[in-house]
Amino acid sequence: MLTYRCSNSCPHCIVEAGPTRKKKMALGSVLGWIDDAAAYRRNKIRSISLTGGEPFYDLQTLALISDHACNAGLSVSVETNAAWAPTLEQALSTLQELPAIRTIIISSDVYHQQFVPIENIHNAVIAAELLGLNYHIAVTTDNEKEEAYCSFRECLERIVDPARISIAVTLPTGRARKLVRRLRQQTSPEPDTSACMRASTPVIFPDGRVMACMGSMPTHPASDPLCLGNLRKESLESVLERAETNPMLHLLRLWGPHRMVTILKSRGHGDILPKRYIRGCHCDICTKLLSEKQIAGRIAEILDEPKTRADIAFARLYGLNEPEMAERFHIAPPGQPDPSENRLGPET
Ligand code: SF4
Ligand code: SF4
Repeated sequence: MLTYRCSNSCPHCIVEAGPTRKKKMALGSVLGWIDDAAAYRRNKIRSISLTGGEPFYDLQTLALISDHACNAGLSVSVETNAAWAPTLEQALSTLQELPAIRTIIISSDVYHQQFVPIENIHNAVIAAELLGLNYHIAVTTDNEKEEAYCSFRECLERIVDPARISIAVTLPTGRARKLVRRLRQQTSPEPDTSACMRASTPVIFPDGRVMACMGSMPTHPASDPLCLGNLRKESLESVLERAETNPMLHLLRLWGPHRMVTILKSRGHGDILPKRYIRGCHCDICTKLLSEKQIAGRIAEILDEPKTRADIAFARLYGLNEPEMAERFHIAPPGQPDPSENRLGPET
């Protein structure tokens, strides 16, 4: 997350970016952290996504950073609002200055449209196609039945293949907290049951904080289990190695946040749970549960139990082929040797 600076100040922006925000990642830090990411466990990290704010705000720096990441062996994508594409010519010349970027994710929706017209999206899409770049459009809405959203979506589908469009529900966090009364999300007493892919993509903020995902609020305290560490205090390697044994993180990766609700209900704590959740928005479950001290405390206690940790370690080992947690906790299924011994065997 390179910068809080942005040409827009969208009312739903979770990081509250805008033209007057100054905070950004120092160039030396970005380049160093990219090297650390590329070196971590010999190419375990294959790609990097540059986001903000608006990374295109400073084109020269974006070119430098993306070249550096590409030279370090990482595949580079960038998230943008396409304000840089008022004409096809400008879109083409801008992207040509960024040869290391192979994928662009363009955010556009009713909120963004107050600042960046759909023509820009069209120009950016045509330029990406002409240059052979991969691209997606990320749309946020509070309600898929809303008239403004439906007519925007109709316009978008005239210029982009619907398979390239992904939809997310507006999360009432960051600047969108001010919108809460106007948001018309649908709610349900049951949480969304989808798994969370984004918990496998940690985010580095300009102040060095490493969060488990972009959905986890940038304002969360350091004690939050989704706050993995701070690169101003320790290395990326040490943050990521510690994350290997973070039971909350891996529960979210394996089953999604609804699992926290299931566990709490099964332990008789249904009465402390929220009464309703935003439909189709699993970040809402994390936000509601982890921002409530009593609920977060109870979850932390349960996740600290050896039996729960063992369940998560086995699920990682057998479901994701990730032995790290089982090895570090020396957890082996009954009748089977400790996986750390298994691993050491052939090498010794
Ligand atoms: S374009 Fe993106 S980063 Fe900029 S204000 Fe809007 S949501 Fe935030
Ligand atoms: S569901 Fe939770 S873990 Fe996944 S992106 Fe949202 S806040 Fe992060």
